[in-house]
Amino acid sequence: EPELWFALNEAADGLWDWDLANNSLYFSPQLKRMLGYGPEEMAPRLDTWVNNLHPEDAPRVQRILQEHLAGRRARYVAEYRLRNRNGHYIWVRDQGCVSDRDAQGRPTRVVGMVHDVTEQKMLQFKLEALATNDVLTGLPNRRHGEEYLESQLALCGRTGIPLGLCFVDLDFFKAVNDEHGHLKGDEVLRATAQALAGALRRSDMAFRWGGEEFVIVCPGAGADETLRVAAKARGALRDLPWQQTLRVPPVTASFGVAVFPDHGRHGTELLEAADAALFRAKSAQRDRIELAGPPEGV
Ligand code: GH3
Ligand code: MG
Ligand code: MG
Repeated sequence: EPELWFALNEAADGLWDWDLANNSLYFSPQLKRMLGYGPEEMAPRLDTWVNNLHPEDAPRVQRILQEHLAGRRARYVAEYRLRNRNGHYIWVRDQGCVSDRDAQGRPTRVVGMVHDVTEQKMLQFKLEALATNDVLTGLPNRRHGEEYLESQLALCGRTGIPLGLCFVDLDFFKAVNDEHGHLKGDEVLRATAQALAGALRRSDMAFRWGGEEFVIVCPGAGADETLRVAAKARGALRDLPWQQTLRVPPVTASFGVAVFPDHGRHGTELLEAADAALFRAKSAQRDRIELAGPPEGV
C-alpha cells in the first residue's frame, strides 16, 4: 500500500482519505500545497474541508457526497470552489468513492482525489461570456440582442425607416416551477422560444432576454406591423400543445410594444418604453398586448 499511495500521490494533484469511524480526514502533501498550506497545516478533520467550501457550492457538494454515502450514486464527483490559504477560491474537480464498509454495509472509509481545474473554469467562463446564444432555448441572448438593437437602430436612423420592439414576459411563470418543477419550467421556456421564433417574419429576431423574458426586434416595422407580430406570437403560444405534450395548463404571456422613433431613439429608451407598456399589460389582467404611450414630456 505505501507504494500505491506514493504512485497515486505523484499522479494526482491531491489525495484524501476519510476515516468515518475515527472522524479523521487525511490530506496529502500535494493537496495541501495546491491550497497553499505547508505539510504540518490543515488539521486532519472533516471540518477543515467543510469550512473551506465556497458557501454557494457547499450545499450541492454535501448533497452529492451524502447521496454517494447512502448508495444512491455510484461515485462522488463534484466541481466546486475551495478556499486556499490566501483566502482566494480555486476551482477543483473532486472525485472519490467508498472503499470500506462495516458488517452492516455502512461506509467506514472513503478515498478520493482532487484536481485543480481553475484554468479550465476560467476559460469556460470566458467562452460563455463571448457566447451569443442562450444554452437553454438556443435563441440569441441578451448580450447579442443589445448589440443587434443598437446596430439596427443606427441603420434605421440613417434611412428613416421605423423599428418595432416587443417585450414578452410569461404570466405567472413562477407557479409553473412551483407546481410542476424546474425541469418542466425549462421545457415550457424551450417551447415558448420555439413558438415565438415560429411566429416571426424573416426580418424579425427573437432573443431570450433573461429568465422568462423575451424580446422581439422587428426592423422596418411601425406600430401596426409590430402589434401584428405580437398578436401572432401570442396566438402561437396559445396554440402550443399544452395539455397533450407539455402536460401543464396553458401558460400565457404579456406583451409591451414600443416603436422607433415614436417612443424612443436609443435602445435603452425603447426598451424602457416597451417595459412600461408591458407593466400596463401585467396590471390589466395579463395575457394581452399594450402599445407604449408617447415619451414623457411630449
Ligand atoms: P408575472 O405574471 O408577474 O410575470 O409572474 P411571474 O411568476 O412570471 O414572475 P416572476 O418574475 O415572479 O417569476 C419569474 C420566474 O421565472 C422566477 C424564476 O424562478 C423563473 N425562472 C427564471 N429563469 C428560469 C429558468 O431558466 N428556468 C426555469 N425553470 N425557471 C426560471
Ligand atoms: Mg419576469
Ligand atoms: Mg413573468
